[in-house]
Amino acid sequence: MNTTVVTVDKEHPDAKVMEEAGRVLKEGGLVAFPTETVYGLGGDGLNPDSSRKIYQAKGRPSDNPLIIHIADMESLDKIVKAIPLKARKMAEAFWPGPLTMIFEKSSVVPYETTGGLESVAVRMPSHPVAAALIRAGGGYVAAPSANTSGRPSPTRASHVREDLEGKIDMIIDGGSVGIGLESTIVDFTEDEPVILRPGYINQEMMEDVIGQVKVDRGLLITDENVRPKAPGMKYRHYAPQASLTIVEGKAEDTIAYINTQCAKLKAEGKGAGVIATDETRGSYQAAVVKSIGTRRDEEGIARHLFGILREFDEEKVDAIFSESFDTPKMGQAIMNRLLKAAGHHIIRL
Ligand code: AMP
Ligand code: MG
Repeated sequence: MNTTVVTVDKEHPDAKVMEEAGRVLKEGGLVAFPTETVYGLGGDGLNPDSSRKIYQAKGRPSDNPLIIHIADMESLDKIVKAIPLKARKMAEAFWPGPLTMIFEKSSVVPYETTGGLESVAVRMPSHPVAAALIRAGGGYVAAPSANTSGRPSPTRASHVREDLEGKIDMIIDGGSVGIGLESTIVDFTEDEPVILRPGYINQEMMEDVIGQVKVDRGLLITDENVRPKAPGMKYRHYAPQASLTIVEGKAEDTIAYINTQCAKLKAEGKGAGVIATDETRGSYQAAVVKSIGTRRDEEGIARHLFGILREFDEEKVDAIFSESFDTPKMGQAIMNRLLKAAGHHIIRL
């Protein structure tokens, strides 16, 4: 398949391009597009064939449901059975934005889109290109992250091209994304709202709006046998080709530990890489040292994480060590992704 790649202005995407992209979606094709979180791989969420194509292009297991993206509140009524009051308040506070909510689905939503579930995940993105595409494409765009299943989510169009060029109809290049980690997912199908995936919108921000919000037990426990509630969270994800180990501890202890490990690997003729920060990058003796940014800017750390994991796949290293980033606001989201990338391999000093 020939994949058309078009570049648009992030704030004011060309109307003709968006119209064409919308036509592709309405005809059952697939279009990758930027959102404020990561790049999405869009298809018509109400068309079962489109959803099947999404799974195929990504190599994604078909029991891992897709998020339907909408552009206005009116669109929500058609795809859900009911909107709980707390969910409505959350929508008022955080939509459009990086928040996904789970509802009981209505009959118009095909099981192909929900991975066979009776519930549906819905998000209203704030990115102007995403909003324009949803409107042009009929109002309901099913879109998982636009990466090959298992690889880090794409934060720029070149990442999408690496994974999906030749497999989808179109890629809309709107530059780098703002947040860099996928949306927060909150389940509203139980009595109490539950966070299924941490993201930029954190527990405290939500509790300020609706009171108590629980966190899915499967997210907190690093035991592979406790199943997370969001089907996608059980899959190994984001993993670079080299083995990844997270090292948690005081800066000087972390540096000493990682340098010792790197020296051992070097003696065995193996190359090591380090995910460092601007503050520590000069202290490592490893073949490849990459800074994820400064610790003073946790949003920057979040934005660079997936890109840096992809960059390591270009390097000839056998093992990667990463510092730990338990930062105040986005720490839970950052560490959730990093732990998955590391297959939960963490050394606590
Ligand atoms: P992605 O689109 O790649 O960001 O992945 C979407 C995530 O949303 C996956 O982890 C899914 O398991 C989760 N998800 C989507 N729909 C539902 C649902 N109905 N119930 C629970 N989790 C869902
Ligand atoms: Mg994904």
